[in-house]
Amino acid sequence: MAALPDFSYFLPTEVRFGAGCFNELGACCRALGRKPFLVTGKRSARAIGALDRAVAQVPNAVVYDRAEENPTTGQCDAAARVCRESRCDVVLAIGGGSPMDVAKAVAGLALNDGACAAFIGADLFTEGALPIIAVPTTAGTGSEVTPYSVLVDTAEQQKRTIKGRALFPRVALLDPELTASLPADVTAYTGFDALSQAMEGLVSRKRTAVGDILALEACRLVRQWLPRAVSVPGDLEARGGMLLAAMLSGCVIAQSGTTLVHGMGYYYTLRYGLQHGLANGLLLAPVFRHNAVHLPETVASMASALGHTGPAGEAGSAITRALHALFEACGVSRAARDAGVDEHLLADFARDCYSDPYRFKNQVGELTEDDVLRFYRESWRGV
Ligand code: NAP
Repeated sequence: MAALPDFSYFLPTEVRFGAGCFNELGACCRALGRKPFLVTGKRSARAIGALDRAVAQVPNAVVYDRAEENPTTGQCDAAARVCRESRCDVVLAIGGGSPMDVAKAVAGLALNDGACAAFIGADLFTEGALPIIAVPTTAGTGSEVTPYSVLVDTAEQQKRTIKGRALFPRVALLDPELTASLPADVTAYTGFDALSQAMEGLVSRKRTAVGDILALEACRLVRQWLPRAVSVPGDLEARGGMLLAAMLSGCVIAQSGTTLVHGMGYYYTLRYGLQHGLANGLLLAPVFRHNAVHLPETVASMASALGHTGPAGEAGSAITRALHALFEACGVSRAARDAGVDEHLLADFARDCYSDPYRFKNQVGELTEDDVLRFYRESWRGV
């Protein structure tokens, strides 16, 4: 065996998993603070009864139920003002990645003077952050175990990341019952996000030996449970399998970051409103055929975890077959054109993406703008 590369792996979040564990929110919250600030989205938490159940457990919570999809720095500034004025000392997030990311930014802004956009970057919350409890109601982002808050910078209109150890939630409550209400399409899209994070973590320049193990298991779980979670919404075993996969994928990217797939996918989301996980999923096959050239054994191992074995020399075609089969099993077209993306804008996306070195930070292989355009074109055609 080749010598293991050096790595460090840090994950301070207590993860509690199980149907019904949402009922532990009140006790967890009282252990961390006296006055909670509860962040959630506009509709779903109320619709599924999670908001009422939370308020029953933490009756003095100040509720901010306006977190938008793909939240902005401006929205976080507004939410943080309410949190500060209410003198809250613990932040609860109930929802998908969007409310969780708002909650994390608010937790930091509550203790640090300045506008949210000023904290884009790494470890700029020098005064730390309020303790965070995260309760995911989608199974995709793994944000409940990451040190990131991903936001649209209001001025720049680009997705940017606030990163900091203080943003790791103290507790994550993973209750599969809360994800049973996800519609089939959101189930599939968020599942693609978990897969994308696991796959990108495996090829990132910052990959770790621990992350590799978790990522392969996340790929295996996605293959096993995602099609079933999509087709049988109330199957709590499948929902649990996907929550686990998403959390594992979060543990992976918490160390390794993401790669070019995420960097390219943001253009689909910001221009066309494609759900984050779908945007990434549509780019996986093209970018991973490239990754297979540089890391054939690694890509072959993830294709194998997805049920498509083959020699390392054919890793590109094995991963393509595995991804196409997964999209088909989930009833989702793998062509970005079917999601409403216009072909004539692909060159603009490629140019803009290529001009931003941040998007290539963790990406293996030297790439040209033409390569990026080719990936977009292949994603558009679904090949
Ligand atoms: P989301 O934007 O949080 O939610 C998508 C949709 O699903 C919303 O309409 C939401 O409704 C609805 N929804 C949520 N839970 C539901 C449930 N149980 N039943 C029915 N509907 C439900 O989606 P997401 O994919 O989880 O998060 C994507 C965001 O996370 C992106 O902004 C992405 O950049 C970010 N992200 C962050 C990290 C990180 O580490 N920080 C990692 C990956 C991605 P409501 O709005 O009404 O709640």
